[in-house]
Amino acid sequence: MKLQRHEQQQQQHQPPLLALSTTSLILLISLAVLALSTLLTFSSRLSLVTHHLAPPLLRSLSTTPTMPYQKELLVAELAVQRATLLTKRVFHEKAKGTLSKDDKSPVTIGDFGAQALIIQAIRRNFPDDQIVGEEEASTLRENEGLRAQIWTLVQEARLEDREAEGVLGGPVGSEEEMLDAIDAGNGAGGARGRIWALDPIDGTKGFLRGGQYAVCLALMVDGDVKVGVLGCPNLPVDDSAPLSADVGKDQTDEEGRGVLFAAVQGQGATSRPLGRGALGPSRPISMKSVSDITDATFCESVEAGHSSHDDQAAIAKKLGITRPSVRMDSQAKYGSIARGAGDIYLRLPVSKSYREKIWDHAAGDLIVREAGGQVTDANGKRLDFSKGRTLAENNGVVAAPKIVHEQVLEVVKSVLDSK
Ligand code: AMP
Ligand code: MG
Repeated sequence: MKLQRHEQQQQQHQPPLLALSTTSLILLISLAVLALSTLLTFSSRLSLVTHHLAPPLLRSLSTTPTMPYQKELLVAELAVQRATLLTKRVFHEKAKGTLSKDDKSPVTIGDFGAQALIIQAIRRNFPDDQIVGEEEASTLRENEGLRAQIWTLVQEARLEDREAEGVLGGPVGSEEEMLDAIDAGNGAGGARGRIWALDPIDGTKGFLRGGQYAVCLALMVDGDVKVGVLGCPNLPVDDSAPLSADVGKDQTDEEGRGVLFAAVQGQGATSRPLGRGALGPSRPISMKSVSDITDATFCESVEAGHSSHDDQAAIAKKLGITRPSVRMDSQAKYGSIARGAGDIYLRLPVSKSYREKIWDHAAGDLIVREAGGQVTDANGKRLDFSKGRTLAENNGVVAAPKIVHEQVLEVVKSVLDSK
């Protein structure tokens, strides 16, 4: 009986207790909602304030503060993207202001303008770095007409996004500053310190013919490539687009074309659509896994004077490769195999005396290696970027997915030995 009464008492007490806890629960929830919304409003205001106060560069880098070379990567990608605005304009002009250099190779107003724009951005952001660029301004100092044309192009090449343009440190101030910037690419290169390798238009012959070309920039630290960027205005944006045999001929930068490749040592390789303002969304790229080498697609230069088409055909034949080679100008070859559109890049020397230039290979070498490939010379040696302006101790280039590189190299050696 006693127990029953106790239970009854408890039951009588329960409803008010329950009522009290429900009320406090509702109260607590509304308090929490209120606090949360106040916090959200405050923090969004705060982020607006910091967004306004922080320099653009710091802001865009704040998401990945621990990754090395993020500032260098951002500056390099934007500088290359801006330079392609200029090269694309010249590409569509009939008269490209072409001169012949001492070595008989062509140079255009596009090469000079792109070099000025990129070096300006490097000097504003990294004033102590050395730069090894392909061009120099002595002929422009004597050629007022050409200089004026380039100056107009350089002034008009601005990224459409103000923040992105701000990252690059603003426009080139005067014609004299433009010439100085071009000449600042006269670095000797070497094994010490931070050195940028720049080819403002790689594949100038392709650029003139309406083929492929690339704006190429890489940062080396103590002879090791740390950052590589390739702007390829005439390559398809789509990484999975198979390499057609005519990719190197009659090209244009119309809709669906233009890709920006990039890599940082140890951080992988990416591609993104080449844009006109801020950077577009990037995606990781990797080489195709080649299970049967006879199915591989190999790339080579269009110019027979730049690599031996005969040796390359003999190597392909010996490997059992049946597809015809894909010929295209510039480091677009490195970008194309890095994203698995092609598989192998062969560059066998035509002359014993020619030394490859560091600006023709530094960016592509890193992008392919970060995408899972291996890049060596024809003797199996890694490309050595620490020997000055040229790859003085290398002989040709063999780039392939890691898994088949050794097999390709054996055949390269046997073909060269049999000559
Ligand atoms: P590609 O478009 O792959 O044929 O390479 C273009 C680059 O070839 C140019 O930027 C030149 O620096 C370079 N080049 C010029 N002459 C030679 C040569 N004899 N052998 C190899 N590369 C060369
Ligand atoms: Mg070049």
